[in-house]
Amino acid sequence: MRPTTEFDAIVIGAGSVGNPTAYFLAREGLRTLVLDELSASGQGQNKAAIGGVRATHSDPAKIKLCQESLDVFSHWREETGTDIGWKKGGYCFPAFTEKVEATIKGLLPIQKQHRLNIDWLDADGIRKVVPGINENGLRGGTYSPDDGQVSPLLAAESFTTEAVRRGAVYRYRESVKSLVQKGNAVVGVRTEKEEYRASTVVNASGVNATAICKMAGLDIPILPDSHEGGISAPVRPFLDPLIVDLRPGPEGKTINFYFGQDANGQIIFCYTPIAPIAGTDRNSTYEFMPIIAARLVEVIPRLKNLLIRRVWRGLYPMTPDGSPVVGKAPNVEGFVLGVGMCGQGFMLGPGVGANLAALIAHGSPRIDREVFDLLSPARDLYRGKKEALK
Ligand SMILES: Cc1cc2nc3c(=O)[nH]c(=O)nc-3n(C[C@H](O)[C@H](O)[C@H](O)COP(=O)(O)OP(=O)(O)OC[C@H]3O[C@@H](n4cnc5c(N)ncnc54)[C@H](O)[C@@H]3O)c2cc1C
Repeated sequence: MRPTTEFDAIVIGAGSVGNPTAYFLAREGLRTLVLDELSASGQGQNKAAIGGVRATHSDPAKIKLCQESLDVFSHWREETGTDIGWKKGGYCFPAFTEKVEATIKGLLPIQKQHRLNIDWLDADGIRKVVPGINENGLRGGTYSPDDGQVSPLLAAESFTTEAVRRGAVYRYRESVKSLVQKGNAVVGVRTEKEEYRASTVVNASGVNATAICKMAGLDIPILPDSHEGGISAPVRPFLDPLIVDLRPGPEGKTINFYFGQDANGQIIFCYTPIAPIAGTDRNSTYEFMPIIAARLVEVIPRLKNLLIRRVWRGLYPMTPDGSPVVGKAPNVEGFVLGVGMCGQGFMLGPGVGANLAALIAHGSPRIDREVFDLLSPARDLYRGKKEALK
């Protein structure tokens, strides 16, 4: 028998990325350990997500990984018998201004090139997809019916259960304090309680990823910034898609906002602050509800009668170029990264997890290597920034 501290793979973080990664590693037959410093699965930023899942991006790597995520989420019930709140309602980006129309139409060619099911609908078409939408200035919009929503809470629980069913071990309230290294290889981790060994260690530690990378001598900048979200009491189902309104708000505080109705009938919503709020402050603000309420009612006036049940504030693990950092760490053997998910870690999680597990078990990802490598940890993470400054 192997000692209880020896594994094939260790995943640091039971979050949006770590849980599906553990599930796919266990499916590959690898003895997997998941460590989280919190008291249960999915208690980091995973539970802050509103659960939107779409493949309709413009970056090819995000498109491919999210197509894989959609496949996992949409078949999860058949596969495991567990309901994770999957709702195939699509995404809708309505256009109320010429600028937004040009932006979303500009993305269509690349989205079509990747065979994504997305189209421009005229105002009449959008009215049908979003009953009760404010028709004032409505020019049309894009609609992608194959995208959807999932409950992040149910998904974390179910990925964990299914990983454990396949032999994965979860240890909570254990924080990784250092990495065990042999030459230029990572061969394990140390927590405050124990030293564990494995030939592969996956860093899926979300907003803590920079500190864990530093333990291996790597400089990978993951910078938290905070975003608020909220959810209403349930109302009768009337809204299929998640709506993304790309207009900056008239209050001067929001760059865009998005919302939808989940599988329980609850309206779930959040906005992007006009200036990123750097740091790890997770206290709710007094201004969030009045601002988002005005934005919601402006897009769908009948939402004025909603009863709000709960608000929260979470963190996006941001990278300088706005893209995730996924793959083998440069110049460090046995160390794999699934970090820097920005505002899309929940939808990327299963795709990233499935590809990291394939990379670890078989030496290559499931999607095209060239596309996968667009997210390589070896890239210049400041390239977008530098280009923007030119
Ligand atoms: C308001 C809001 C709405 C959002 N909506 C969406 C959405 O609709 N769709 C979407 O895709 N994304 C959304 N996101 C973004 C999403 O929540 C994040 O991108 C995602 O959760 C990040 O996943 P992760 O696995 O990297 O981090 P996490 O889920 O935070 O997991 C990291 C885990 O690592 C653990 N950890 C850290 N350090 C250590 C250590 N030293 N030792 C042990 N454990 C450690 C943490 O406790 C944590 O559990 C939203 C975010 C916010 C705030």
